Amino acid sequence: MLLPAALPTPLTAVADPVLARAGVELRLKRDDLLHPAVPGNKWRKLTPNLAHALAEGRTAVATFGGAYSTHLRATAAAARALGLASFGIVRGEELADRPRNPSLAAAEADGMALEFVGRGAYRHLVGTGGGPYAERWGNCLVLPEGGSNALAVHGTAALPGELPGLGPRDVVCCAVGTGGTLAGIAAGLPPGARALGVAVLRGEGYLEGEVDALHRAAYGRTFANWRIDHGHHGGRYGRVPAALEEFAAGFEQRHGVGVERRYVAKALHAVYGLAAQGALAAGTRVTLVVTGLPDAVAVSRS
Ligand SMILES: *Cc1c(COP(=O)(O)O)cnc(C)c1O
Repeated sequence: MLLPAALPTPLTAVADPVLARAGVELRLKRDDLLHPAVPGNKWRKLTPNLAHALAEGRTAVATFGGAYSTHLRATAAAARALGLASFGIVRGEELADRPRNPSLAAAEADGMALEFVGRGAYRHLVGTGGGPYAERWGNCLVLPEGGSNALAVHGTAALPGELPGLGPRDVVCCAVGTGGTLAGIAAGLPPGARALGVAVLRGEGYLEGEVDALHRAAYGRTFANWRIDHGHHGGRYGRVPAALEEFAAGFEQRHGVGVERRYVAKALHAVYGLAAQGALAAGTRVTLVVTGLPDAVAVSRS
């Protein structure tokens, strides 16, 4: 294994009277426990890409993200472990001279060279694979924002294989940022089972297009066994409304599992909301993929 990880990750049942009343069974797929420094879906998406980079003799990896990007931090940790240099383009010029937040501090501690650019320049650089910066990066693999590409999708497609006995009553649920994780899960499901993505940002239509494009890139076709819920993003990326905070804290207290707020809390909240609305049929078994760790835990480990 390229970056040794605890696979398969644990699968645990959640006994909850609220869900039981709706006839919905919930299990957690604990991908947050996969690797100490490269959590959850980031490990699954990065390892096939970095294996490819090493096989091609590349010496560096570069990518893009916001100030709180888990992808940047995970890429830095993985690159360091494999002896690759790493470069990160960060959205937000104004952050250059400010004290680093814990996420960027961790990326820098793992040797990632950060460049801070304005919003417009950032969009342009994402669209051009680094533009003029690419010349400085040497023999470098450039990963898209969020790390979602065809290889990443093949990586996350391995996840359903760790869930034996999936069938028509099963829904495998995950949060959706760029859609790579959802695309892989949907592609890896056996016939009858379905994937449910929960958007963590406003992106109705756009995100579906991204998932279709990733499926075409990875498999040459689209899939019809998935959908995205757009009712639980809380307004925008990173925003945690009071009701969501209360829900997540309550879940942590009742079940003793830390709930990462930007992604996992929104997906979990959606499962409860949809169950309460009757939008998940009685008899449904939901497997929620815990894609990452709460920030405080992630930073203390890296
Ligand atoms: C990055 C991230 C996601 C989003 O995954 P995509 O493949 O970009 O949709 C979900 N959950 C967590 C915890 C993440 O860090």
